Amino acid sequence: MSDCIFCKIVNGEIPSKKVYEDENVLAFYDISPEAPVHVVVIPKQHIQSVNDLNEENLEIVSQIFKAINKIVIELGIADSGYRIVNNCGKDGGQTVNHLHFHLLGGRSLNWPPG
Ligand code: 5GP
Ligand code: ZN
Repeated sequence: MSDCIFCKIVNGEIPSKKVYEDENVLAFYDISPEAPVHVVVIPKQHIQSVNDLNEENLEIVSQIFKAINKIVIELGIADSGYRIVNNCGKDGGQTVNHLHFHLLGGRSLNWPPG
């Protein structure tokens, strides 16, 4: 997707502070952090949202969570805890239409988010 911000981050057109990368998954620090640790974890492949997951591409979700497992250890928040958030569509507050999971931690997080 040529006009997708996260595709541009994947192909290096937009710089990012990378936290983790493998063949299919990329994680980088959010430009506007909501917590001391705020990382965005994405598939390198352009998938618009959870609504666009299907039998063919669903394996990426498992790969993303495997990556998160490594990232939380690397960033030292595995034991203190963290939150994984997916915003889907307009009411979900999704502003970038490339599937992504927010990984938030480093402080006590409020619930419910409102
Ligand atoms: P959403 O609101 O779609 O769930 O989350 C999109 C996230 O992407 C937001 O938290 C926003 O701060 C982050 N973001 C938007 N543009 C950029 C960018 O160019 N670089 C980085 N690192 N994060 C971005
Ligand atoms: Zn994209």
